[in-house]
Amino acid sequence: MCAEFQKPRGTQDVLPPVSQKMEQIRHIALDCAQRFGYLLVETPVFEQTPVFLRVGESTDIVQHERYSFTDNGGVDLTLRPEGTAAIARAYVENGMYNQPQPVRMCYYGPMFRRERPSAMRYRQHTQFGAELYGSVQPEADAEVILLACAVVEQIGLADPVIRLNSIGCSECRPAYREALILYYQQRHDQLCQDCQKRMNTNPLRLLDCKIDVAIRERAPDIAAFWCEDCATHYRDLTQLLTSCGRQVSREPFLVRGLDYYNRTVFEINHPSMGSQVALFGGGRYDGLATTLDGPKSTPAVGFGMGIERILSAMEENFDLPLMSRIYVAHLPGFEAPSLVLAEELRRKGFAAESDLMNRSLKAQLRDAGRQSGVVVIVGGREWEQGEVGVKWLENGVQMTVKREELSDLLRQPEEKG
Ligand SMILES: [Zn+2]
Ligand SMILES: [Zn+2]
Repeated sequence: MCAEFQKPRGTQDVLPPVSQKMEQIRHIALDCAQRFGYLLVETPVFEQTPVFLRVGESTDIVQHERYSFTDNGGVDLTLRPEGTAAIARAYVENGMYNQPQPVRMCYYGPMFRRERPSAMRYRQHTQFGAELYGSVQPEADAEVILLACAVVEQIGLADPVIRLNSIGCSECRPAYREALILYYQQRHDQLCQDCQKRMNTNPLRLLDCKIDVAIRERAPDIAAFWCEDCATHYRDLTQLLTSCGRQVSREPFLVRGLDYYNRTVFEINHPSMGSQVALFGGGRYDGLATTLDGPKSTPAVGFGMGIERILSAMEENFDLPLMSRIYVAHLPGFEAPSLVLAEELRRKGFAAESDLMNRSLKAQLRDAGRQSGVVVIVGGREWEQGEVGVKWLENGVQMTVKREELSDLLRQPEEKG
């Protein structure tokens, strides 16, 4: 195929059965969120560019990785690189701060970043996230983190580990920033190029560097700089999570990539993935909605999770059962009745398909074996007498049943033979 007709670099076509698994993850995530009271909010996949510029000016995503374009009307638009900014915009624009607080929301959909393509990084990826607006309480942080853990568990990854830190507030963080800059300035020449730049734009992200890990080892710990409120908030949150039986590990150098966090930042890992891979990340961003012209005080906490990453964690650990399908095969000349019977079964709630290739019965059975557990055979004298054959491919059990009793039989798989 001509290169111009191929999918854009760094994107993927999600085909069955992976697409079916993705759909099941979506179902599990949204179902879990709903049980916690977080309801779906769908924002456009693009926003006016200033939304993202305002929210994450000095981040790599906004500086180098955004997909921006000017539409025919001359409006500067950007494909959303993450969900949090768009939800904040929606919260403010729809006046949701006037509703009873807190407001619990979740989102699910594609995000776009022009990253260097690699095995786990797609330029279009799917994200699920939850956002809680209106509460400064540590209980709010706890609830959001518990929801993230619940989703991970529902997907089949038991006992997730919460990596937790607090990056302080506008009162106590400046002093930490100073200490951090001082520490890194003394080691300026040993730093990678990115970090030499970060020092001036976003010093907390120095701690995020994957190259200068050894230098970080002895960097100052923000815990020593927390004001009383931040220290209490962190302590209470840890206690709440442990009271709920969750495993918490304090990570002094966890800062997260985006600018807008304050206090709580967290990641959720799973032992099966290795300690470097975060399934989820999130935190608190009390000032975010305010920067988008929201009211002065709009506390918020939330997380986002990459579905592709979850999927790769699952493939080794957990096999979600796919819906079992019924294959309606036919004897020669009975194509039409087999289609009618398949439709009859589908209307009763089964997943059913019939042969559309006019194949021999033998070829149909071979075809059925690829994806179905049960074959219903239509044709011959049985059909004239109102009966069909049923065959369970797994154990070869076969029987003839009256057409009107077929759905009852198929609903009771335990009684087969
Ligand atoms: Zn503080
Ligand atoms: Zn570095």
